[in-house]
Amino acid sequence: MDLFEYQARDIFEKHGVPVLGGVVATTPEEARAAAEQLGGGTVVVKAQVKTGGRGKAGGVKLAHSPEEAAEKASEILGMDIKGHTVHRVMIAEGAKIAEEYYFSVLLDRADRSYLAMCSVEGGMEIEQLAVERPEALAKIAVDPTMGIDAEKAAEIVEAAGFPDDLKDQVADVIQKLWTVYAAEDATLVEVNPLVKTEDGAIVALDGKVSLDENASFRHAEHEALVDRDETDPLEIKAKENDLNYVKLDGEVGIIGNGAGLVMSTLDVVAYAGEKHGGVKPANFLDIGGGASAAVMAAGLDVILSDPQVKSVFVNVFGGITACDAVANGIVQALEILGEKENKPLVVRLDGNNVEEGRRILEHANHPLVTLAETMDGGADKAAELANA
Ligand code: GDP
Ligand code: MN
Repeated sequence: MDLFEYQARDIFEKHGVPVLGGVVATTPEEARAAAEQLGGGTVVVKAQVKTGGRGKAGGVKLAHSPEEAAEKASEILGMDIKGHTVHRVMIAEGAKIAEEYYFSVLLDRADRSYLAMCSVEGGMEIEQLAVERPEALAKIAVDPTMGIDAEKAAEIVEAAGFPDDLKDQVADVIQKLWTVYAAEDATLVEVNPLVKTEDGAIVALDGKVSLDENASFRHAEHEALVDRDETDPLEIKAKENDLNYVKLDGEVGIIGNGAGLVMSTLDVVAYAGEKHGGVKPANFLDIGGGASAAVMAAGLDVILSDPQVKSVFVNVFGGITACDAVANGIVQALEILGEKENKPLVVRLDGNNVEEGRRILEHANHPLVTLAETMDGGADKAAELANA
């Protein structure tokens, strides 16, 4: 999960990384109040979008009074930056910048370790620096079991070429940024620019943080960082039920167990759809290993809540969870959903205990449920029903 800059700023502050005051605002009025709260002096109005290059796009503007902060906020709010609409700005205390540097630490999958990158030439886009002047960007591998201790931090500032009088100060900030990375279970912590101010302080002026969602069980507090405006409400509902759901653009809702089976189901449904008015899969929904009644009901509920869905194809291969358990899950899910279940459902079961599973569904004899013998047959029937 990528964070907004203001969220990264708050996390930096929590771990002792030097930052300037910042207050988020969603209207020009709030921007004015925020600028007043920050002392009424010069502030920077910064678009809060999860993409880089905001400065170049006109999404970072200086304002010398609360009045001007409100004006700049009204210019920036609603702006489109690389396809992201600006819903919030951060009003940040203005810094008098003497130098701009770059620092990041990230997960280096290819090297099975972490990688720190640092440069005394910050500010510009780092991808560009890496291509045009690779020698100006120090890259130092970080052993995950050791992290960035004082010695490693000294190595990084040395390689980046910081002047002697700054080395200790920058190394200290880098160790604190490492604390952010480790303690928050991040996969990326990037500061561009890390600045030296005119009075010699080292400050993180911009922050980009990605958190590892696999570690969310260790961080109940990260839940509050999820951007609910941007996330599809059905995706939120699915996530609350531990379902892997991705909304697509078609008409056939798909439920399967296991990512591989769901992906191939998408393919056969898209293929079958060509003969039925070009209908396509409406989503990707993997209910995972345990296809219990509650999980099945939650999955069906998510899919049926999508108004684009015209039919649903349940394609389950019984493994550890046998087909009879899955069939019972479907029957109970239909009971739980009651009248909410108003779209035709094609079910194809195979694998462990398939005969008993089919018998259970036949016995239930739900008017909207069709049993399919094969995956191709089920996809064809679901596509036909979606096109009816
Ligand atoms: P980005 O373009 O999305 O990376 O946004 P940044 O937060 O990095 O801001 C872009 C640029 O605006 C920085 O590189 C700085 O040069 C400038 N900037 C940001 N904050 C301040 C500030 O407080 N004072 C001044 N003078 N410039 C700032
Ligand atoms: Mn930046």
